Amino acid sequence: MLLFVPRERAAGERRVAVSPETVTALCEAGIDVRVERGAGEGARWSDDAFAAAGAELVSAEGIADADVVARVSPPSPDEARALPERAVLLGFVAPHRNREAVGLLAERKITTLALELLPRVSRAQAMDALSSQANVAGYRAVIVAAHEIDKYFPLFMTAAGTIRPAQVVVLGAGVAGLQAVATARRLGAIVHVSDIREAAKEEVESLGGKFIEVPEASDLSAEGGYAAEVGEDFLARQRAVLTERLREAHAVITTAQVPGRPAPRLVTAEMVEAMPAGSVLIDVAAADGGNCELTDPAAEVHRGEVRIIPGQHLPSDMAGEASALFARNIRALMKLLVDDSGSLALDLDDEVVSGALLTHDGGVAHAPTAELLA
Ligand code: NAD
Repeated sequence: MLLFVPRERAAGERRVAVSPETVTALCEAGIDVRVERGAGEGARWSDDAFAAAGAELVSAEGIADADVVARVSPPSPDEARALPERAVLLGFVAPHRNREAVGLLAERKITTLALELLPRVSRAQAMDALSSQANVAGYRAVIVAAHEIDKYFPLFMTAAGTIRPAQVVVLGAGVAGLQAVATARRLGAIVHVSDIREAAKEEVESLGGKFIEVPEASDLSAEGGYAAEVGEDFLARQRAVLTERLREAHAVITTAQVPGRPAPRLVTAEMVEAMPAGSVLIDVAAADGGNCELTDPAAEVHRGEVRIIPGQHLPSDMAGEASALFARNIRALMKLLVDDSGSLALDLDDEVVSGALLTHDGGVAHAPTAELLA
């Protein structure tokens, strides 16, 4: 079985879907691995490192007879067209904002396993790229915020007086948000957190964060531990409480997401205008429209003396670490897809495979995406 790994071409994408470590493991499992030349550059892995690990280094045309293609960023329409018919594609696809490419994947009879659709069952934890990358994003968002503000994060008691700790607000306490809380706490900030799932409160508090209560809130968890989309009425009450919090915030990290939907708009321009001069908002949800209405995924926005920084490239900014984790996720998924001799043995009845199945045999297998394309 031949696995091809392309050089990522999306703007700002420096990650790669395999690492030298996982190439060795894949080869040991009987899989032939082809890596496009230069694919590891952004993650600081040379072609020689991949070759030494057992990969064959090829040009982009090396994709032509691949059985499986593993990639990080959603394929562009051109990249979807370049896939050999009936190949298996593993990677993020972001189907709700990438409809043309999804249509082409179906047309080309590609079997697409979209990483954002992987069911979050314990057997699939090692394959959970959404989590591994969100973890990097949450950490990095805090490091960027700490660098960008001209204020200490920790409390300091010095001979010249006391320095009060920074106030950080984190919106959304999923994987990225909880990592942001943990990182900001380690740096000594006071951290306030908003989420709409009841379970999040305990997780936030166990990390030393303070949970922001919304009046008359009920648990808004949906299936699989995800959030449900909330109504305008709840959002208005939530914004009212957040407005007060944001008035004191030196750094705001927004990570709120609802799977397959645009990111909820939690921060208005007015709320940003009330933030202290010099503060920053890092919008980790920028790729899905952002949690702040001022977010521009393409550029930093200045509103008065507050800056809104889009955060969709945060994992790519730590490309080596993020790729090493992503590559292990792919390695674990590949293990599920091949038999003992390294041949492709796709079991469509397996709940992990069927859960992640986006396109197959000329159709769109994921019902919500099929509806979107209809
Ligand atoms: P996500 O990226 O989909 O969303 C991030 C967070 O935003 C979520 O906590 C969500 O509740 C929150 N959110 C949505 N709308 C909001 C709003 N209006 N205001 C405030 N917050 C809002 O989430 P995720 O990081 O993928 O995690 C979702 C859940 O899945 C979590 O409970 C997480 O612990 C769980 N999880 C389970 C596994 C597993 O393998 N069992 C793996 C990873 C995550």
